[in-house]
Amino acid sequence: MIYPIRLYGDPVLRKKARPVQDFQGLKKLAEDMLETMFEARGVGLAAPQIGLSQRFFVAVEYADEPEGEERPLRDLVRRIYVVANPVITHREGEVEGLEGCLSLPGLYAEEVPRAERIRVEYQDEEGRPRALELEGYMARVFQHEIDHLEGILFFERLPKAKREAFLEENRAELARMQKEARALLKELSQG
Ligand code: ZN
Repeated sequence: MIYPIRLYGDPVLRKKARPVQDFQGLKKLAEDMLETMFEARGVGLAAPQIGLSQRFFVAVEYADEPEGEERPLRDLVRRIYVVANPVITHREGEVEGLEGCLSLPGLYAEEVPRAERIRVEYQDEEGRPRALELEGYMARVFQHEIDHLEGILFFERLPKAKREAFLEENRAELARMQKEARALLKELSQG
């Protein structure tokens, strides 16, 4: 099942999500979220982005696309991460990098600061405790997704001047998304 992705302006993206307590049905939810994410050509998708205020996300590490060949994203999957109740227990270094978000389609910010290396403790789709050490790009993806569980969007990690510039440059597009987010909420509430 492909979910509609909640856009900037939807209040669910601003809420602190609740811990996952019931792991029944999480495997199916993960599959649906992955399908939604592949369809939207993303690298990660957090539960609040489909309207579920739960501490849960999926992320994928892709292989590079062979040059000149167009492959379905699914064929390029190197590793899938299904992550419930993540906690960053260690961070090291700082790097700036480019980020975008499926809830702010088409908008990107360069120089989003993130820890270079992290250790994350979490539970898998069956509730088993897991830990990972990540660096570089996947460390960035995890920090972006974990921020979603706190109601934080990537541009809010920018230093003040760059954050204000981002909002200013994308003012019209952001207003359009807010309008679309409200329309989707209305549609969903009417069944
Ligand atoms: Zn995002």
